[in-house]
Formats: sequence, structure tokens, C-alpha cells
Amino acid sequence: MDKKPTTHFGSKIIPVEEKKGRVQDIFTSVADKYDLMNDLMSFGIHRLWKRFVAEKTNLKPGDSAIDVCGGTADIAMLMAKRVGEKGRIVVYDINREMLETGREKCIDRGFLKSIRYVQGNAEEIAFADNTFHCATVGFGIRNVTYLEKAFGEMARVVKPGGRVICLEFSHPTSKTFSKLYDLYSFKVMPEIGEVVTGNREAYTYLPESIRKFPPQEELKKIMEDVGLFKVKYHNLFNGIAAVHIGIKV
Ligand code: SAM
Repeated sequence: MDKKPTTHFGSKIIPVEEKKGRVQDIFTSVADKYDLMNDLMSFGIHRLWKRFVAEKTNLKPGDSAIDVCGGTADIAMLMAKRVGEKGRIVVYDINREMLETGREKCIDRGFLKSIRYVQGNAEEIAFADNTFHCATVGFGIRNVTYLEKAFGEMARVVKPGGRVICLEFSHPTSKTFSKLYDLYSFKVMPEIGEVVTGNREAYTYLPESIRKFPPQEELKKIMEDVGLFKVKYHNLFNGIAAVHIGIKV
């Protein structure tokens, strides 16, 4: 009998074809509270991490970039400041509600022309080869079923010499810190998630999916395997998050 291919959804093993729908349900249900939750859960620290990503993009006025799994457009806005009025930033995300929440926020903050919103799957990016000076993905790649495909696509749409940058939760480097972090993420996060969004499952999935995500060195190898060059990473906050950067040859 043929066995259906499976994948991780947090700590559960599910048929591959179910993952996209389940991830969609989560982000549809939390979209309007997503930004608030990020601030509450990280004590605002995610903003510093996203700023670090924008600094590493090497973008200049007039350049273009795509923020894959861009959601509510935090990284896109930081990049838009760098590329200025003549530049172009695309927020690319599979979820309409997240894109709409992001679009309203960008308009409120005065980003009217330089940011565009495109709905699509990171595994098949709907842009031609060598289109952008940089591609970023922030806290998104963990949700994608085939992350190698998504990195391959990010590398494809970036111009030679451009950067592919991934900001993602990772694995703490100190054991003591790791225990405290486990306590916080498995006990406290779901509680906050339930109170603020009414969706406990979404914030149970979050720490589970982080633990299943490849550690720093493994992720570096995945990026190298899609052809990215000089891949290096920076651990942030004891490795709670990491920023991986590769260059397209
Ligand atoms: N990048 C934003 C940030 O840093 O705040 C949003 C991150 S949010 C945790 C993850 C985003 O990835 C969601 O908006 C979700 O819709 C999007 N996403 C999940 N799977 C995707 C896929 N296969 N293709 C494109 N976007 C996807």
C-alpha cells in the first residue's frame, strides 16, 4: 500500500498536503492580533532583530527587494526606508489577511508607493530570475513545507551579488538559558496566545515548530546547498533567533 508523504506541523506528523491549509488557518485567525502578540511575547525585541536584518541587506536608494512570508510588513517598511521613493519593495505572502493587515499599517505610516503586496507561495515565487537586489524572510521559513524550495526560489529571484537573508527562531547556545526558554515558550506563550487571540493552538504550534526547526549549522548547509555563497549567521539573544545571510553568485 502506498504511504502518503508526511511532514511536521509543530510536534505533530501530518500528511504533507495538510500543512499549507493548517498554516493558513493559523495566520487567518491571528492576523489582526499578530503585531500585538509579537510585542507581548518578545517584549518588543523582535523590532531590534528586524532592524538588524534591514542593516544587513546592503540596500541603497533606488534598489528593490522582496520580503518573502512578509506578513504584516515590518521588514518591508524598514527596507522601504533604505531604498527611498525610487526603490521598490514587495511583500510576498500566502495569506491574504496578513497582507491586508500589513498594507493598512504601511498606508497609515505613509508608505504609499514604494511597497507592493503580492499573494503567493514561497515555494514558487511569482517573479522572474534576477529581479531583486535582496530577498529576506523573517519568521516565515519555518512554516513552509519545503524550505529548500523556498530558499532556492529566493536565490533565483535575487540578482547576482545580492543577498538572501533569513531571520528565524533558532536554538539557544546555553543549556541553562534553554531550560528557561522552554519553560517560557511551552507554558507562558500558549497562555498569552489564548488570552489575546483566543487561539491557543496557534501559540502551541509556535514553540513546537521552533524546536523542530533545523539548528544554525544545518540551516547554513541548506542555504549553501541551494547555491548560496559565503553563508554565515549571527546568533541573536543567545541563539533564540539567528540571522543567516548568503550571497547569490
Ligand atoms: N515576516 C513577518 C514578521 O516577521 O513579522 C511575518 C511572519 S509570520 C510568523 C509568518 C508568515 O509566513 C505568515 O504571514 C504566513 O502567512 C506566511 N507563510 C506561511 N507559509 C507560507 C508560504 N508557503 N508562502 C508564503 N508565505 C507563507
